[in-house]
Order: sequence, then C-alpha cells, then structure tokens
Amino acid sequence: MGDFLDRAEAAVGDDGRLPLGAMPDWDVFPFERDGLQARPLTELADPEPDRRKAPADCRTCQALDTAPQVLHTGGRLAVVRPGATSLPFVANVVTREHVLLDDLDDAGHVELGRLVARTYAAVQALDGVGNVHITKWENGAGHFSMNVMARPRGVLQLRGSNLPVWADMLPDTPQDELDARAEAVRAALARGPRR
Ligand SMILES: [Zn+2]
Repeated sequence: MGDFLDRAEAAVGDDGRLPLGAMPDWDVFPFERDGLQARPLTELADPEPDRRKAPADCRTCQALDTAPQVLHTGGRLAVVRPGATSLPFVANVVTREHVLLDDLDDAGHVELGRLVARTYAAVQALDGVGNVHITKWENGAGHFSMNVMARPRGVLQLRGSNLPVWADMLPDTPQDELDARAEAVRAALARGPRR
C-alpha cells in the first residue's frame, strides 16, 4: 500500500497536512472549519502490529463477566453494554470468546446477522430513540464487537457517522436511565425473533 501513501503525500499542502475535505461543511459535523487542521500523515506500518491482545485487559471480556452489562447470551455471540455512555443507549454484539470476526464460521455469521438485526430492533424500540447506527471497529484489544448506538430522538445534529464524536463530548447519561433501558433490551432479546 506504499502507493496509497505516496498518493496521499502528493496531496499534502505546504503546511505538511492534507486539505480539509467536504465534511466540515456538513451540518452534522461537530467542529467549525475555522481553525481545524488535519494531523500530519504518519509512516506506513508494514507489517502492521498484531491486533490480537491478551484478554486480561479486554473490556469486552470484562463486560461478559459482569452480569449487569450482559443483555443476551447466544451460541457463539452475546450482547453486552458499556459501563457508561452519553447516548440514550449503546449495545455491543460481541463474540463470547476473545476472538476476531475473522475467526467466526458460517454458523457464527448467521447468528451475527440475526442478532445484529434483533439488537437493532430492541434498541430502536426504546423510548426517546430517533435512530440506531451500527458500526464495527473492534474494541482495540482483538475482541470482535459491533456497536449499536442510539441517537436521541429529535437531536438531528447527532445523526450519521459523527455520532460517536458527539458522544465523546456529551455528558454521561444517568445510570438509572441506562439500567432501565438495559432491562427493556434484555427482555426484547429474551422474547426471541419476531414472527
Ligand atoms: Zn476479550
């Protein structure tokens, strides 16, 4: 991928940074264009560092061992929630083992599709949720995790791919509200698939 970085470096301006793209003009972008600058490009990592880290420091493994954070336990997969969030609710569809998506077999893929859709529906059905966004970035420790993130209803500025950036700046949602929503999601997932 050296040619990818060569092409990127050719687009760098006199200040050593890529010019800003179109996103700062989006009305959902969290930052104003004035004063905003891209970080300088970094060196190519070849080979890349191993994405798999020890389970000892893995927050997903810790969540799976913490009953209030577990929303559903399936065959190969489970649904957990983080200890805190600034959004109305966040759930994570994760592997029960400390593995990557690369390690799931076909039956795991089938379970994943169903569980993502059911978790989406359960979170979307919560009071005060405008839309639900789903992403996969992993958790930084080599444990497969998909994020199912609820946007507060009517807060259109948070919609789309910048939702986690806004979430990083917003204050935490009260724990008792998150606990009540967790109960509702747990109950919806326990009811099984929609007929
Ligand atoms: Zn883990």
